Amino acid sequence: MRAFDYVRSSDINTALQQSGLPETRFLAGGTTLLDLMKSGVERPARLVDISHLQGLNDITVVSDHIHIGASAKMSHVAAHAQIQSQAPVLSEALWRAASAQIRNMASIGGNLLQRTRCTYFRDPAAYPECNKRNPGSGCAALNGINRNHAVLGGSDACIAVYPGDLAVALVAFDATVFIRGATDRQVAVDDFYRLPSNRPDIENDLSVGEMIVGVEVPVVPALKNSHYLKVRDRASYEFAAASAAVGLEFEDDGHTIKDVRIALGGVGTKPWRARQVEHALIGKPFTEKVLRDAARYAVDGAQAREHNGFKIVLAPRVIARALMTVGGLV
Ligand code: FAD
Ligand code: SF4
Repeated sequence: MRAFDYVRSSDINTALQQSGLPETRFLAGGTTLLDLMKSGVERPARLVDISHLQGLNDITVVSDHIHIGASAKMSHVAAHAQIQSQAPVLSEALWRAASAQIRNMASIGGNLLQRTRCTYFRDPAAYPECNKRNPGSGCAALNGINRNHAVLGGSDACIAVYPGDLAVALVAFDATVFIRGATDRQVAVDDFYRLPSNRPDIENDLSVGEMIVGVEVPVVPALKNSHYLKVRDRASYEFAAASAAVGLEFEDDGHTIKDVRIALGGVGTKPWRARQVEHALIGKPFTEKVLRDAARYAVDGAQAREHNGFKIVLAPRVIARALMTVGGLV
């Protein structure tokens, strides 16, 4: 591992100034960054430790929004009583992520910025070809073992899956990421993540010298009636083969769909909002057939490679199952 400088910041402005220096990374919980440094994927010259910044770990739940500070620990957010009752999808997405030890260390900001688990990306010694790590070098996954790779949003340059769970729930509910830098700004989480196109090395909208300071989720009725279903190869400590963050609101008749929110994880190069499915469901009666018919739209345009075609079959089933669970059909 390359030798690096370490500085600990006590306030945001100092941290931002320090992060403007070349080859600098913020260090939050370190559960992603240190792994990547040990494997040689990340080689920063300097770490700015932001884990002790004041005022960035608050969790606020009020009538029209939920605000979560970037330094809040995954475990604290998952266990927050008001989040569990008002926004179960957020709590469930976090509980199903990683392990208890990691959730106790890892921050919400770091969680949003975790990097793909593509094996080729994470092993530079064995696989020099990776456009995300080394632009223009090729993509070892296209003709390699691509069982865990994306069927939605991929390009000829990269098919790596966005691996996180929380961001899927945030995208389903139109959350916003709060960014501080030379100017303060807010970006919809859906717009924050970029498709790989021909520049898979550019993964999100964050610039050098900018810090995520929080996320905010608007409170809508479907948020209270929400659920995160994660299907994976084993029941814990595993990334999603396919997951769905969903929420439902019924008309007064208790049966007609008034509002529905759906986003997919584990299948796309970014958290994947299934808007076509949402549009197909609004105004329809809540039946298993209606759900399964509409859920097929989620994989319109999906592209399978040699080993990941099962995701095209799985994703609509995960959507239907998640909606049936939250709507009381199972
Ligand atoms: P760090 O490692 O400290 O930072 C990660 C990146 O974000 C770095 O580039 C850092 O510079 C940057 N950064 C951190 N905070 C900020 C900020 N506020 N502003 C700007 N940049 C920032 N995640 C899931 O969602 N689901 C899973 O199933 C899952 N399983 C896992 C299994 C294992 C074995 C491991 C190791 C991780 C797993 N994870 C999973 C990922 C885990 O959730 C992340 O490692 C964690 O959330 C990262 O948070 P951190 O605070 O440790 O980030
Ligand atoms: Fe690299 Fe993306 Fe190809 Fe994986 S899928 S090897 S991250 S370019």
